[in-house]
Amino acid sequence: MKIRIDDTNLISGEALSNLNSVLIAEDDPIFRHVLQTCLRRWNYRVIETDNGLDAWKVLQLADSPQIAILDWMMPGLDGIEVCRKIRSLKQGPYKYVLLLTAKDDKHDIVAGLEAGADDYLTKPFDVDELRARVRAGKRILELQQALLFARDALQFEAAHDRLTNLWNRGAIMDLLQKEVQRRNRSKEPLGVIMADLDHFKTINDTYGHLVGDEVLQEAARRLATGVRSYDSVGRYGGEEFLIVLPGCNASDLIAGAKRLCDSIANQPIPTSAGNLSVTLSIGLASPEAPSLELPDREALLRAADTALYSAKAMGRNRVESVAVAIGETGR
Ligand code: GH3
Ligand code: MG
Ligand code: MG
Ligand code: MG
Repeated sequence: MKIRIDDTNLISGEALSNLNSVLIAEDDPIFRHVLQTCLRRWNYRVIETDNGLDAWKVLQLADSPQIAILDWMMPGLDGIEVCRKIRSLKQGPYKYVLLLTAKDDKHDIVAGLEAGADDYLTKPFDVDELRARVRAGKRILELQQALLFARDALQFEAAHDRLTNLWNRGAIMDLLQKEVQRRNRSKEPLGVIMADLDHFKTINDTYGHLVGDEVLQEAARRLATGVRSYDSVGRYGGEEFLIVLPGCNASDLIAGAKRLCDSIANQPIPTSAGNLSVTLSIGLASPEAPSLELPDREALLRAADTALYSAKAMGRNRVESVAVAIGETGR
């Protein structure tokens, strides 16, 4: 026997992404049979192997089972070796390892736990004890998953604007800083867009702040869907957006910015107060073609701001640009 799998989807990784899959690596056919019969009865999906090498192969698959029951003594790699290999993995979800052993000498058990096993079971094992220990493992994995989820949610909240779901000011400023540094090394072009909704105060004054919020949300959505996947859109301030476009040359930048203006102006924004016509003004900054040095982030922002000021002064709903040359301060 090599590897026996309950579900043919498992190898493709589709059905493995839950905590209900268990890998059994046990060379004794009788124990293996008992283990798989019990686990299936308790509704776990089971992958079984009779040697450590195959166990290790399965555990390296994307979305492999998160619970592994490893026999201590088996051909190929023994349970301890598989355990050490699992713990040396730097990526992927945590694997809960239950070591199965005929050894009940304290030193052996300590060695097993030190190799990274989470728990152990001595053979011959009691079926109820097996069930309780697998459940305990599953509970730990569930807790860990909930913690990871909470951490991801916190990270998202810390970097995003609540109203629009765009990057918030701090995050988009950090992103711009990184792109400026990257550009200084690579000499690739870099585009910066400062966009501001026109006469937005009038919308608030006429229809109220809630309708103003709806306009902000829809405008943000259009901006976010109107850029390339590697561009970043952030809410810089109230009705002001900062967009960072790595690798975007000056002519593409102008064309892209015009499309963004059109995406706002050409289609009224549906709100609870009806369809509202809104326009957007854009100021662009892009460092001049391959130069030895790039103005710093603040110079680029000042340049984009100056260009935005011109766009407003020249009648709004338009794009103006400033190329930032070497050493120029942007003013
Ligand atoms: P301009 O064309 O010159 O940019 O004029 P404007 O009216 O858009 O600019 P102004 O700076 O006078 O007004 C911006 C308004 O945006 C004022 C502020 O109350 C409003 N604002 C800022 N943040 C929010 C928000 O989160 N929600 C709503 N509804 N309004 C906001
Ligand atoms: Mg064995
Ligand atoms: Mg405005
Ligand atoms: Mg403004």
